Amino acid sequence: MVTCAIALGSNLGDRRTQLDFAVAKLQALLRGLRVSRYHDTVPVGVPGPQGLYLNAAAVGGTQLTARQLLEALQGIEQARGRERPYANAPRTLDLDVILFGDQMIDEPGLIVPHPRFRERRFVLEPLAEIAPDLVDPVTGKTVADLAASAP
Ligand code: ADP
Ligand code: MG
Repeated sequence: MVTCAIALGSNLGDRRTQLDFAVAKLQALLRGLRVSRYHDTVPVGVPGPQGLYLNAAAVGGTQLTARQLLEALQGIEQARGRERPYANAPRTLDLDVILFGDQMIDEPGLIVPHPRFRERRFVLEPLAEIAPDLVDPVTGKTVADLAASAP
């Protein structure tokens, strides 16, 4: 069993309903799921004005591989009608693999730990609520350390 951390985000449609849907699906997919509060977040690094995000984090155990987990997450996104018209477009539901045990993966379409999570308060703050002691295998820092030093 591997402990994995997932970031959830939505800024299109009924954001709370999208996240509730994802949480229900994750409940069925992962063991001992823990979920953070939902955080209203101002979008950063997006082209043009967009609505506020609702962000959360979830942690649970899995016997899937990281690739199988990513595919399952993409299936959940699809079920909410996720479209990708351009990079950083508004999205009904975005589910990213942040950490997958102590695995370091760099393959086409799958980079773990997520390459940008250390700078993202909208990932680190929710994750620190539920799993402050998870360790980033790249830097050796805990989620609590990373959250405290994020810009
Ligand atoms: P965003 O980077 O804004 O989350 P997308 O959700 O459209 O954008 O994802 C773009 C691509 O990122 C996906 O096709 C997926 O294969 C790839 N990807 C690479 N690493 C990861 C990861 N750790 N979690 C989720 N997607 C990833
Ligand atoms: Mg994504």
